[in-house]
Amino acid sequence: MNPVATAPGSVTVYLKSVGVFGCAYSINNAVRISRTRQAPNLTAFHLKFDLLFSQSALSRNSNEEISVIARAPIQVIAVLGAGTMGHGIAQVAAAAGYRVVLRDLNEEVVARGRLSIERNLAKAIQLGKISEDDRRQTLARIQTSARMEDVAASDLIIEAAPEKLELKQELLRECESLTGPNCIFATNTSSLSISEIAAAAARPENVVGMHFFNPVHIMRLIEIVVGNETSTATTDLVRDVGRQMKKEPIVVRDVPGFASSRLGITLGLEAMRMVEQGVASARDIDTAMELGYNHPMGPLRLTDLVGLDVRLSIAEYLHRKLGSETFRPPEILRRMVREGKLGKKSGEGFYNWNDNDQAQRAHTS
Ligand code: NAD
Repeated sequence: MNPVATAPGSVTVYLKSVGVFGCAYSINNAVRISRTRQAPNLTAFHLKFDLLFSQSALSRNSNEEISVIARAPIQVIAVLGAGTMGHGIAQVAAAAGYRVVLRDLNEEVVARGRLSIERNLAKAIQLGKISEDDRRQTLARIQTSARMEDVAASDLIIEAAPEKLELKQELLRECESLTGPNCIFATNTSSLSISEIAAAAARPENVVGMHFFNPVHIMRLIEIVVGNETSTATTDLVRDVGRQMKKEPIVVRDVPGFASSRLGITLGLEAMRMVEQGVASARDIDTAMELGYNHPMGPLRLTDLVGLDVRLSIAEYLHRKLGSETFRPPEILRRMVREGKLGKKSGEGFYNWNDNDQAQRAHTS
């Protein structure tokens, strides 16, 4: 059966069987249903279903009762890791109406994460983007915790812990042991393979990538990364959650670099080669992309913000995995990283960030 409308605010359930006007039909696949109100505010029992299915999808059966066996809407989201990405993910989830458990290793780190959310929300009020009531409600939905057991009631867990395969696999196993069979485990990994992470899972169909961008409360893109075993129902559910968070989801296959890093790194490395070859200064190359192609920021300034060391390790990874010369790190990148010129965080990269007129002067050596 190929049901599926893509209206926002719809959810996926599995129907084992359903009675229609006194007859009975068996439906073995996922059916997309739409509901009258947003899920986080409602229990499944209050949903008014509007089944979308085709006659050909139904097969006659006798005396079967309605039996909804899986996938209630997402109501509780746990976020593992309250660092750069985790606190932002918790914020957008709570702002979207979900109840959120933000979990990190100790109380001090989760408190820091919560403080960052409070600062973001205060700024949003100043800018007139949200009301005082929005701020209060968003904060009220977030529970912080240093105890893993507190994620047990989650429908969706979004992992934003450090970029280490073993750690993510360990978290996945722990989450599976604590949660119900329908709980989805999403990873915010920026480079690891979803299928490799899911290899540790008892229920790999529930494992998916949700790749957010930094800063999470501002950047609109979310890459939904589909592993070899990720089910369509899981993909659909997290895509809907992304939309509910006011993000624009794109769905990509689990290949190294996904879609965003692969393209972004290609542009960045080519810009570095052009500096190396003396084609133009870093500043002029950035200006070419900003004014000529309407990029909000040139590739070299962006490299300075992300960190040259981070870009180097992604380039090395993609070069190794994809075997394409496009991703061979240019010598200038290796040299600058060796010299400790890591970009904004070290004060110098392709721009001099210590200058008052920071990032306006190109560093072209
Ligand atoms: P970070 O170092 O800022 O935060 C990671 C947090 O995870 C820390 O607070 C750490 O204490 C916590 N942590 C460690 N072990 C944990 C555990 N067992 N349970 C719960 N929390 C634990 O890292 P980050 O930059 O937020 O990156 C997190 C993930 O997001 C990584 O996979 C990274 O690749 C990905 N990512 C990062 C960016 C970015 O720009 N920083 C962008 C997209 C994706």
